[in-house]
Amino acid sequence: MAVTVRDVKCIVTAPGMCDIAVVKVETSEPGLYGLGCATFTQRITAVKAAVEDYLRPLMIGRDVSKIEDAWQQMMGNSYWRNGPVLNNAISGVDEALWDIKGKMLGAPVYDLVGGKAREGVAVMPRGAHGRTLEELGDSVEAMMKDGFGFIRVGMFSPDDCPDERKPEGAPAGVYINPKKTIERYVEVFRYLRERFGNEPDLGVDVHERLNPTEAVTLAKALEPYHPCFLEDLLQPENVEWFRQVRNTTTVPMAMGELFVNPMEYKDLISNRLIDYIRCHISMIGGFTPARKLAAFCEVFGVGTMWHGPHDITPVGMAAQLHLDLVSPNCICQEFVIPNELTYEMFPGAPVVRRGYAYCNDRPGWGVDFDEELAKKYPAKGYNMRGGLAFLGRRLDGTAVRS
Ligand code: MG
Repeated sequence: MAVTVRDVKCIVTAPGMCDIAVVKVETSEPGLYGLGCATFTQRITAVKAAVEDYLRPLMIGRDVSKIEDAWQQMMGNSYWRNGPVLNNAISGVDEALWDIKGKMLGAPVYDLVGGKAREGVAVMPRGAHGRTLEELGDSVEAMMKDGFGFIRVGMFSPDDCPDERKPEGAPAGVYINPKKTIERYVEVFRYLRERFGNEPDLGVDVHERLNPTEAVTLAKALEPYHPCFLEDLLQPENVEWFRQVRNTTTVPMAMGELFVNPMEYKDLISNRLIDYIRCHISMIGGFTPARKLAAFCEVFGVGTMWHGPHDITPVGMAAQLHLDLVSPNCICQEFVIPNELTYEMFPGAPVVRRGYAYCNDRPGWGVDFDEELAKKYPAKGYNMRGGLAFLGRRLDGTAVRS
C-alpha cells in the first residue's frame, strides 16, 4: 500500500539573525517524515499561510513517492505561478518529499540522483569586509588561513554622497555614488592583488546598484586585477544588457539570486551570457527545479554557485550541497556557517572544514529538526526599515532596488 501524506506544517523559528521556515511533511507511516526549506525571511508569514492554507489540503492523502507529479500540481494548482512566496512554499514540500524518499530507500538524496562527483564542496564564505583597506586585507587573510579559496570582498561605505549633492528635503538613507563605488573597488582590488598576488579567487557582489553602462565601466576597470566573478552586476529587469557586457569584458559573470522564474534565466544560460548561476534554490521552487537547472547549465558550460546566505535553513543548505555533490558543473557553494544554537536545533546539519563543506551519509538530507527547541526561539519579525533587503538612493534621492 502506498505511503501517503498525513499532514504538512510550516514551522517558523529564529535561532540565528533572521527568521527561517521549515516545512515538515508527515506520512501515513508512523515516524516517517521529511523536512524542507521554505525560507523567504522578508515575507515569512505569507509563506507559512501558502503552505498550511493551500499546499496542505492539496497534499494530504497523496502518494509521497510521486515527487515530480506533486511539484507540477503545487506549481499549477494556483494557476498564477512563479512568485517567491509560492515558490518557497513549494520548495518546503518538495524538499520534504525528497527527504522522505531517501529515508524510505535508506539512501542519501545525492545517491538517488547520480552519486557523488566530489567528496566535499568548495565553500565561498560570507564576504570579507573592513572599514579600511588594511582591515579588509586582514579579513581576506583570515579566510585564506581558514582554507577558503573563493572570497568575495566588500568595503564599508557609510554614505557616498555629500549633502551638497542632495536636493532640498532629501530623505535619509544610503546614497549610492556610482563613480565612488567604481573607484573604491578598483582601489580594493589593486591593494589586495599587491598584498596577496593572484591568489585567492576574489569576487565582488555588485548588488545591482549600478546602471548598465556604469556596470560595464566597473567590469572593464577591474579586468587588470582578474576578479574571478562579478555578482549581480545588473538588475533582473536589465539582463538583456549582459550581451553588451559579454562583448566588452572577459570578467566572468555570476548572476541569479533574485531569479524566481525560468523566463529570467533561460536565455542568459542558453546564450552563454553568464558564467555562473547563483539562484537561491527555495526561491525557484526547491530541489526538483534546481536539479533541472543544474543540468541545463551543464549543457551550456555554465557553472553553479547557489546562493547560501543567513536566510536559509540547514535543511535547505543540505539540499544545495547534495545537488553540488552530484553536479560536475558546481564551482563552489556560498555557505554562511550557522551558530551553535542552529546546529543544536538541526542535528546533522552540514559542516565546513578547511574550505570545504560536507554532508553526512544518512538517508534523505541527513538533517533532523528539534521542534521543541525551535518553539523557544520564535520568529523575530522582519525589520521592515533596516532588514536584509537593502534599498539605496541615487544622488538625487530616488530609491533604487537592489
Ligand atoms: Mg549576492
